[in-house]
Amino acid sequence: MSTMRAAVVHSFTEPLRIDERPLPAPGPHEALVRVEYTGVCHTDLHAARGDWPVKPELPFVPGHEGVGTVVAVGEHVERVRVGDLVGNAWLASACGACEFCESGWETLCPAQRNSGYSVDGSFGDHMLVDARFCPVIPAGVDLAAAAPILCAGVTVYKGLKVTEARPGQWMLVSGIGGLGHVAVQYAVAMGMRVVAIDVDETKLALARQHGAEVTVNADEHDAVGEITRATGGGVHGALVTAVNGKAFPQAVAGLRRGGTVALVGLPPESFPLDIFTTVLLGLTVRGSIVGTRRDMAEALDFFARGLVSPTYSVRRLEEINEVFGEMDRGGIDGRVVLSMA
Ligand code: NAD
Ligand code: ZN
Ligand code: ZN
Repeated sequence: MSTMRAAVVHSFTEPLRIDERPLPAPGPHEALVRVEYTGVCHTDLHAARGDWPVKPELPFVPGHEGVGTVVAVGEHVERVRVGDLVGNAWLASACGACEFCESGWETLCPAQRNSGYSVDGSFGDHMLVDARFCPVIPAGVDLAAAAPILCAGVTVYKGLKVTEARPGQWMLVSGIGGLGHVAVQYAVAMGMRVVAIDVDETKLALARQHGAEVTVNADEHDAVGEITRATGGGVHGALVTAVNGKAFPQAVAGLRRGGTVALVGLPPESFPLDIFTTVLLGLTVRGSIVGTRRDMAEALDFFARGLVSPTYSVRRLEEINEVFGEMDRGGIDGRVVLSMA
């Protein structure tokens, strides 16, 4: 019987182990994919540490930014064929029949399954995907660069859309990590003017390189005042991708009257929301979780047309524990993409 190699979480307090495991056979609606690259999202680190109230069942394989080639398909697979380039995504599958699926919000389906969390993900040389849901990678793109689009890209693209900010308006991107540095690019491509905020000067330089007009260090004494002055009264929209709870009230404080903040970062914390200000200034605070299949196709299209190009560095699967350490310290520029070669 043939085997595969994967980085496996056996405990929330121990490093991942590289295991040999049996190569799975694709069931109905499934495709088996030989993974070439996978991005490393901060969600994978939250998952491996069991940070959130709903924990993944151990052992599991993280990863939801995998790209590779279909090598086998199960029964009833029509959407992809052997040889096609596809990926996985946080939204592994949804029921297709609930009120949320029916109304084009499959990302809210209560019966959804999530790659690298409730189903094994892309931190391995092979993975199973549901062929009805897997992203199809456009022809001719750089595969390593495509990986970060599958979570970071689609998530920030959707998050920017739900702020309802328009071309010409100001967008605050808080947290310029894997998600934030592509958020700057999507916002610019969507015609918005970008203010970037982070605690690290290297990240702010990356934001300027990708088109941010204004950058602010979140630790500065009057960071909110700086945002307000630079934008003539505050930002129309804000997207918070930061991994620190402090960034959330700071983004709310940077909003213009009538502005909307989309919460995307997932630190396991809460923050106080001032009722009086929220009411009198007509502010909107909304959560946003990844994106639908349609959002994914649109996000990939921006990438394929060269409007968004992730900054990334390639590492080996075996280096995953070091990569998690660097991510925890905020030491990664853009995204790390693991190579299975
Ligand atoms: P990352 O580690 O690459 O980036 C996090 C960034 O936050 C870093 O640049 C860091 O310097 C910055 N930061 C830390 N403290 C800050 C502060 N006080 N103010 C501003 N910035 C600060 O992480 P990532 O992969 O971009 O993921 C970010 C978060 O988004 C994670 O919590 C992840 O789980 C979450 N996420 C959510 C969704 C969703 O659908 N809602 C999807 C993917 C990831
Ligand atoms: Zn992710
Ligand atoms: Zn559903």
